[in-house]
Amino acid sequence: MSRIKIKDLLKSTSFGSEVTVKGWVRTKRENKEVAFVALNDGSIIHNLQIVIDVQSIGEDLLKSITTNACLAVQGTLIQSLGKGQTVEVQAKHIQILGLADPEKYPLQPKAHSLEFLREIAHLRMRTNTFGAVFRIRHAMAFAVHQFFNERGFVYLHTPIITGSDAEGAGQMFRVTTLDPKNPPLNEDGSVNFKEDFFGKVTNLTVSGQLEGELGAMALGEVYTFGPTFRAENSNTARHLAEFWMIEPEVAFNELQENMDLAEDFLKYLVKYALTNCLDDLEFLDDRFKKEEEKKKQEERSDMGLIEKLKFVVESPFERISYTQAVSILLESKPFKKGQFKYDVAWGVDLQSEHERFLVEKYFKKPVILTDYPKEIKAFYMKQSEDGKTVKAMDVLFPGIGEIIGGSQREDDLDKLTIRAKEVGIHEEDLWWYLDTRKFGGCPHAGFGLGFERLLLFVTGMGNIRDVIPFPRTPMNAEF
Ligand code: ATP
Ligand code: MN
Repeated sequence: MSRIKIKDLLKSTSFGSEVTVKGWVRTKRENKEVAFVALNDGSIIHNLQIVIDVQSIGEDLLKSITTNACLAVQGTLIQSLGKGQTVEVQAKHIQILGLADPEKYPLQPKAHSLEFLREIAHLRMRTNTFGAVFRIRHAMAFAVHQFFNERGFVYLHTPIITGSDAEGAGQMFRVTTLDPKNPPLNEDGSVNFKEDFFGKVTNLTVSGQLEGELGAMALGEVYTFGPTFRAENSNTARHLAEFWMIEPEVAFNELQENMDLAEDFLKYLVKYALTNCLDDLEFLDDRFKKEEEKKKQEERSDMGLIEKLKFVVESPFERISYTQAVSILLESKPFKKGQFKYDVAWGVDLQSEHERFLVEKYFKKPVILTDYPKEIKAFYMKQSEDGKTVKAMDVLFPGIGEIIGGSQREDDLDKLTIRAKEVGIHEEDLWWYLDTRKFGGCPHAGFGLGFERLLLFVTGMGNIRDVIPFPRTPMNAEF
């Protein structure tokens, strides 16, 4: 008999029919006559109750049904009399597919700390929390493609190994096949990378944007969605060394349209989760409330998770310039009382504490900050007439800070070349990028959305290590 997924079975009303289900034991309760097993197969957060007649199953078999053992159960679908479930399966035949020694199994049917679960990342997906997180992660990835596909964007695969060190977004990981003990040397004693695999220095990409721009100059509207690597030694709850980034790039868009696209995109994704992941979100909403209760009153979110998601879908994002933001911060209570750790001044990059003040305390909704000083932004951003700012935009989210960074791109060849030189980028390293400005250049714009930052928001999890299956962070590449 072919296997039915628990997700489908829980909706079934074919009472009396014979079914086969397979999954992992979450809990087992028993008395002298019957045993109840909660079985989960990962297709849905809910478990299926299996009812076992203790007399007929035999003592040995019953004993080996332990938490997290894997079972194949054949039985009759019956309407459940128990609370909180509509169907259950009266077992006729049970086969143990995989034993789980209860003495050695690290996951117990109790709440474990997220820190502990990170140490057993190979098993943590079997918990309700991580099952919910990774089903939502899948749904969000699917929704990203659906959003762009509906709008006629082309999914462009940009390289993971890059020969350009002009991406400029962060510290890079070197890719090399040279022998670290005995590399070929130049006469001056430096390593001769001409003998390396690619005949030059190569690294893992920090952004697909520059290649994305090349695509946009031909295909009009493109996006990338791929792994991104940054070797920053920042051990925060919002940074990974390996993360996934979505980068749309659109010919003919200027800053305004870029902002509209970013806002539509984020709302679409959140709405998709609300429509398609409600079971998992309800579980995470509960979890979120319990976590918030542990926090100090003033740090608590005044909305539940689902409430927060609905709020973001419904409210227009606040759009203000960096200059306005600095004025607000200079007038703010925490600034005047010296409560910010980092200084605020025009020309200095905003820190996460400033961003979060604007979003969580001042506007109480997502904020798009635009027109940053050109010195604190990348060389490729479009320079404004004022000579001081660039057409940059950062989208800031409650509880997260920056979730999107983007800009209109500089399409003026001279300005771009001068700015690249000013920040120390050699023209010969970037000739292919500059070429697009020589041959049919046009205004264009794009942005990068950190996929895991989005997931932090949608799942209400507090640490970015808990929204990617196998996190890579400084000193950690296990699993
Ligand atoms: P931050 O200031 O938060 O370090 P950034 O300004 O360096 O981010 P960008 O280069 O603008 O980041 O990258 C675009 C987006 O990619 C960010 O808005 C963020 O959502 C995400 N992102 C950047 N760095 C990381 C990282 N180390 N881990 C996870 N996501 C990241
Ligand atoms: Mn940024």
